[in-house]
Amino acid sequence: MSEQNKPFRVLLYYLYVPIENPEEFASDHLKLCKELELKGRILVAEEGINGTVSGTFEQTERYMETMKADTRFAEIVFKIDEAEHHAFKKMHVRPRKELVTLRLEDDINPKEVTGQYLSPKEFYEAMQDENTVVIDARNDYEYDLGHFRGAVRPDIKAFRELPQWIKENKEEFADKKILTYCTGGIRCEKFSGWLVKEGFQDVGQLHGGIVTYGKDSEVQGELWDGQCYVFDERISVPINQKEHVIVGKDYFSGEPSERYVNCANPECNKQIICSEENEHKYLRGCTHECRVHPRNRYVKEHELRDEEVSERLKLIEENMVEVR
Ligand SMILES: [Zn+2]
Repeated sequence: MSEQNKPFRVLLYYLYVPIENPEEFASDHLKLCKELELKGRILVAEEGINGTVSGTFEQTERYMETMKADTRFAEIVFKIDEAEHHAFKKMHVRPRKELVTLRLEDDINPKEVTGQYLSPKEFYEAMQDENTVVIDARNDYEYDLGHFRGAVRPDIKAFRELPQWIKENKEEFADKKILTYCTGGIRCEKFSGWLVKEGFQDVGQLHGGIVTYGKDSEVQGELWDGQCYVFDERISVPINQKEHVIVGKDYFSGEPSERYVNCANPECNKQIICSEENEHKYLRGCTHECRVHPRNRYVKEHELRDEEVSERLKLIEENMVEVR
């Protein structure tokens, strides 16, 4: 391993493993994380654990050692990124019913049924076969910031709608090799298992997910376009070490952009890709209603007076061609 260049590290990990009494485990685990001065978000369920935490080199080392000393978690693979700062403001450990939200009628146990695990190299090669279809197993806003070249973007808003969408589009995938991928691999464990159970014969999943693919010294992230969305304050991380193709599009102008912001209307909070210029121009609001919302955060942060707000709204109206 190369030497540490930045003061912090971000650990991403999961393991499907039986955990008895997730509530009690969560409260004990929170104590441990606080003692180690980590920050992050960890989900615990009877089916396993899924977390992202940040801390200094020493803090994250101690966390990994502690986890590996617990026989239940000895197999966990930690994906390690260096970072300039903590990636979270607080430390949460939450008990949940399921680690990923699929809400299947018959839940999938990935330890019993799951797609074939493919290494980055195997995935890279399989992806280029004519008879392969690559399905992105994430949410729409994640795909929009970056994805594997040519991957199918299911016409859904959230990952949990994916099984239904597959059922409705089944003929598209018949007799094909299906590859699935997600950020760290946890969603594909279940989703690919569901595909196998649904009768698809040839199903592969990217082992360790996109973030592992981006670190692989052989493939070096090739065939990945854009950035990879992550669920912490970094918002995105680079994957392709050889070339950087921007696929993100500014919500307002359609121009290439990779800058994610949340709509300033606290009741909307929708994630939109937009340039700094357009953020100012549109008061960081995704619709007119969001721009004029009485609690618009942008207006508060910039302490805009009513006249200034009206002036910008007028400008938007005057230039309105393609504005949503
Ligand atoms: Zn909005």
